[in-house]
Amino acid sequence: MAKEELECSFCGRKKPETNLLIAGLDAHICDRCIEQAHGIVIEESKQSDSSDLSAELKLRKPQQIKSFLDEYIIGQNATKKVMSVAVYNHYKRLLQPPSKDEIDIQKSNIIMVGQTGTGKTLMAKTVARMLNVPLAIVDATVLTEAGYVGEDVESILTRLLQAADYNLEKAEKGIVFIDEIDKIARKSDNPSITRDVSGEGVQQALLKLLEGTVVNVPPKGGRKHPDQKFIEVNTENILFIAGGAFDGIERVISKRLNMQAVGYSASMSDEVIDQDHLLQYIIPKDLKDFGLIPEIIGRLPVLTYMNPLDAGTLRAILTEPKNAIIKQYKKLFEMDEIEFTITDGALGFIVDKAIEYKLGARGLRSLCEEILTDAMFELPSSNEKKLNVTKTYAEDKLTKTTLKKLKAVS
Ligand code: ADP
Repeated sequence: MAKEELECSFCGRKKPETNLLIAGLDAHICDRCIEQAHGIVIEESKQSDSSDLSAELKLRKPQQIKSFLDEYIIGQNATKKVMSVAVYNHYKRLLQPPSKDEIDIQKSNIIMVGQTGTGKTLMAKTVARMLNVPLAIVDATVLTEAGYVGEDVESILTRLLQAADYNLEKAEKGIVFIDEIDKIARKSDNPSITRDVSGEGVQQALLKLLEGTVVNVPPKGGRKHPDQKFIEVNTENILFIAGGAFDGIERVISKRLNMQAVGYSASMSDEVIDQDHLLQYIIPKDLKDFGLIPEIIGRLPVLTYMNPLDAGTLRAILTEPKNAIIKQYKKLFEMDEIEFTITDGALGFIVDKAIEYKLGARGLRSLCEEILTDAMFELPSSNEKKLNVTKTYAEDKLTKTTLKKLKAVS
């Protein structure tokens, strides 16, 4: 073929009419056709993305869900079990074709009660990772009633859309973790005349979301204003997990248990109450007495609790989870061909300090960081290929001043 006759094999444009003509084995393609074809590829992949959603959602049986959680989270067996069943039922309900009988399986939104740092967020994150669904983590304390300074409850869905890369179908099957739900408890028992901007009003607004409704969501967040485009998000299949410390709820539980003991002394007599772990006896009524409105409690039907972390658990957190902190340091040093080991004594020392300075599980990482920074700075450029952290080494690196500093930031 003579040079001047070259043309696009797709649209027939002659070479001079194109900006670019690319040659293949027996054909040519012009820049416009490439762009068009690219558009088709994107469209196609979007379509197959959404039809594969059910396949993408990796649903396992409750026992498998629990085993997965076991890999990343230490202890908290009661919550893991309850969570596995709730999550399984929720997603089973989603993946099922609409049934003809009129049995409507209700959502199993979950509420976790437990001190901060006991792994509530980690639990929600791990479940979302296992299912391969988007997760939005929001703090209830920033939410206010529409019209007040703060964020509207719709902002929760903006976050979820963002987490789903604006894929609506994915977002509508995602998980929302609402932290510090206890902070929007009604401040006092008498419904006050003055508005309770960040308390009961927010609970009312949340209610609709939890129930399942279609909400107009500003995709970029912020306040609603008339010329902003909205995305309609249906919350019916979104799994809501709420968490809170509910400081002082043990008193509520204890009071109730004591009253029961008086009322039903005969039937209670053979049940020994473990006064140190009162959370395990929590019932929905305790949340109501704490200040959550009954409707919210009703929409979070799965109630579970997280145990405080004792020394044994903290130590296990350091070494056992799949991505345990110590395993991470091992890997980091390995990249510089340095063999990193740490003695039981040193691990015990780190745990003791975390407890003494009330740093919790979150503090474990900062403690390790303080102990290892010098080594991580010096060893990569030295000939030393081994690092064994002993209790003495750790004591040496962790001065009182650094500990006080850690306590101040935690
Ligand atoms: P919460 O949401 O209850 O305040 P987080 O889930 O944020 O607590 O926990 C803080 C960190 O502590 C987590 O990122 C994790 O590294 C660690 N952690 C807490 N509890 C556990 C646990 N049971 N198993 C493993 N790691 C834990």
